[in-house]
Amino acid sequence: MIIVMKKTATEEQIGSVTQKIEAVGHGTNISRGTNRIVIGAIGDERKLTPEMFDSMPGVEFSMHIVKQYKIVSRESHTTNSIIDIRGIPIGGEQIQVIAGPCSVETQAQMDLAAQQVAAAGCRLMRGGAFKPRTNPYTFQGTGVDGLKIFRAAADKYHLPIVTELMDVRMLDTFLKQDVDLIQIGTRNMQNFDLLKEVGRINKPVILKRGLSATIAEWLMAAEYIAAGGNHQIIFCERGIRTFETAYRNVLDITCIPVLKRETHLPVIIDPSHAGGKSWMVPALARAAIAAGADGLLVEMHPNPCEAWCDADQALSPQELNQLMESLNGIARAIGRSI
Ligand code: PEP
Ligand code: MN
Repeated sequence: MIIVMKKTATEEQIGSVTQKIEAVGHGTNISRGTNRIVIGAIGDERKLTPEMFDSMPGVEFSMHIVKQYKIVSRESHTTNSIIDIRGIPIGGEQIQVIAGPCSVETQAQMDLAAQQVAAAGCRLMRGGAFKPRTNPYTFQGTGVDGLKIFRAAADKYHLPIVTELMDVRMLDTFLKQDVDLIQIGTRNMQNFDLLKEVGRINKPVILKRGLSATIAEWLMAAEYIAAGGNHQIIFCERGIRTFETAYRNVLDITCIPVLKRETHLPVIIDPSHAGGKSWMVPALARAAIAAGADGLLVEMHPNPCEAWCDADQALSPQELNQLMESLNGIARAIGRSI
């Protein structure tokens, strides 16, 4: 951490800053330039914060010089991490498309969806049993029954399941149903208690980006999970809130190269919640793969018009097949497979 002193800083003020640094057992290095005096703190940066110095007399500003996220940062692990979901790799050369309905509705709907997901060539299936709905009077999900329905349908086609955990009290049920990949939704990205709990278990986690979260906040949220010992984290961009109202959210494609630089963990894209309309999904999905995403989380319903949730953005089974075909060419062009 460095503390930049004001031009007018006195020796006494410099002394107070160095004393504060030394009080936590750190060394100091004072660099006296022509205009500025910069004090370097030598030691573990986690023991010091800018708030400890910024309000001190004579201090212009202070800042950390290494990233505050440690485990998830590429600095700590230079090669790409590959997360294994029951033998299916996410983050390697092969791109994974996780497809399925927004929500689990009935056994017949999930059985058909699982068959269609597998037939399209996808290796993992999505489906929400607990739904974070904006309106409390709308369908809230089929709950624990939905989890069982999902498990039964996906097992017939050997598809690992991805489903959202909203409430920490449901964690044991998720483990009992052996959910393969736990999704933390956009609205819970900074639910730190929930993040700590999924950090203690040995299950891969998809961490969706908060509606208005910066990349630094998202990385720090992932660090909460990693700090508990669970390093199996997959970032998922699903569109962010901006001034634009022509589509549901703005898909931040730029986050892909940025995250790839900042973290060794896989990055996937949810084009469905970004666009909010099924006709936008193929274009966004192709852009994401071209930009280096490791996979997609896509909504597909056997009969989109009948979907109980997010009907507008669900692909039909035929559209999912077409999307998979068109992604094939893009994957090959960038030296990957699908
Ligand atoms: C979902 O994937 O069904 C979902 C609710 O997503 P998000 O958290 O991105 O809104
Ligand atoms: Mn949805």
